[in-house]
Amino acid sequence: MQSIVRTVSGDIAPDTLGPIAFHEHLLFDIAPPGSGAGTPITMHNRWQADYLSNVNPANARQTDRNAAADELRAFAADGGTLLVDQSVIGLGRDPEGQRAVARATGVAVVAATGTYTAPYLSEAIKALSVAQLADLFTAEITEGMDGTDVRAGLIGEIGCSWPLEPAEHRALIAAAQAQRRTGAAVSVHPGRHPDACGQILDILEESGGDLSRTVLCHMDRTYPDGTGVLPLLERGANVEWDFFGIEQSHYWMGEVVLPTDLDRLHLIHDLARRGFGDRITISQDICTRTRMIGWGGHGYGHFLRNVPPLMRRLSMAPDLIDALLRRTPLRLLTLKEKSP
Ligand SMILES: [Zn+2]
Repeated sequence: MQSIVRTVSGDIAPDTLGPIAFHEHLLFDIAPPGSGAGTPITMHNRWQADYLSNVNPANARQTDRNAAADELRAFAADGGTLLVDQSVIGLGRDPEGQRAVARATGVAVVAATGTYTAPYLSEAIKALSVAQLADLFTAEITEGMDGTDVRAGLIGEIGCSWPLEPAEHRALIAAAQAQRRTGAAVSVHPGRHPDACGQILDILEESGGDLSRTVLCHMDRTYPDGTGVLPLLERGANVEWDFFGIEQSHYWMGEVVLPTDLDRLHLIHDLARRGFGDRITISQDICTRTRMIGWGGHGYGHFLRNVPPLMRRLSMAPDLIDALLRRTPLRLLTLKEKSP
C-alpha cells in the first residue's frame, strides 16, 4: 500500500507538502438558490458587505478562474502548499476550473465530494437513496466528478441543518459508507444547535464511519466560548475552528458572539494541554469575495502570515503549531492506495 494525497491534478506523495489550508472555498456559489445578482462590490461598500458576509449575493460567489489563481499565488507567497476546496454539490463546484487553477499556479488543490444543506440541492439530488449517494460519493473519489476525470480527495463538507433534513440524514449515512470503501476523511458542516454535533457523530458511528477520520467544522459559531467541544474530542472525532480572519463579534446568521483569532487559539491551546492537539484543524472557510486579497480582504494566507505570531505569543509548542498548520490536515488527507 502506498500513501497518497488525491489532488485535482493527480495523486501526490504526502511528504512533499508543507502548510495546508484544510477548509476553504476556491470556486464557489454559496448564495441561496434564486437570490439574484446582488450589488457589485466596490471600495465604498466592501466593508459593509464583508460585515454581513454572504447577505449580498454578489459577495457570496466567486467563479472566476483568473481571480482564483491570483488568490492561490498570494497563498503560495505566504508559504501555502495545498488548499482544500470544500465546495460540494450545491455550492457551484467546478472541477475543471479547480484543475486549471491548480495547474496555472503550482499550488495543490484537493476537491470534495458530498452534498451541502437541503435548500441548496436539486430535486434530483434530494431524491437519491442512501445507496445511490454512497455510490456517487465513492465514484467521485475513484473516477471523477460531474462527468470529468477530476477526482475528489475528501468527503464533505456534508451540509447539515437543525433539525436535520431527510436528504442530509441520508447524505451522512452515505458519507460513512463511502468512507469505509475509500478511506477518505469526512468533513461535516453541523447545524447551529449545540446538540447537532453529537447527533451527527451518532449517525456516522452507527453507519460504520471512522470518527478518527471525521472533522466537525465551525466550532467558532457552534460553541463560541468552547463549552461543548471536549465531549466531541473524547468520542474520538476531530474538531475545527475555521473562522480564522473573522475578527468581529457580530455573527450574520445567529445570536452568538463570535470569538477572535486570539480567543480561538486560547481554546485550542487549552484542549492541546488536555492531549487533543492532534485532533484539531484550523482554517478560514473563505466563501465570500471580501475576504480575498483582490477585494481588500485577508486572503487564504492569513493563517500563515498573521496567526503563527499569535501562537508564539501564547507560547504554543512548535510541535503543536506544526500539527495545526500541516500535520493533522495531512493525516486526514492521506489515503492508502494499492501500489501500481
Ligand atoms: Zn465551508
